[in-house]
Amino acid sequence: MAVPKKKTSVSRKGMRRSHDAIKGTNPTECPNCGAPKLSHHVCGACGFYRGRQVFSKPVSETAQQTA
Ligand SMILES: [Zn+2]
Repeated sequence: MAVPKKKTSVSRKGMRRSHDAIKGTNPTECPNCGAPKLSHHVCGACGFYRGRQVFSKPVSETAQQTA
């Protein structure tokens, strides 16, 4: 088995891992209701995707939107 010649220092390890942090998501605005949603995902607020109702919400919330 190949063995590293020198011990990796804390500093070197930190430099290597400087790119490993998880970036936050980049939500876009739903074209139907304006709520923030992830691109290529169904809107969780109104259930629309690509201008089409994919799932329907509870009756009370649906009534508020149409009014
Ligand atoms: Zn929506």
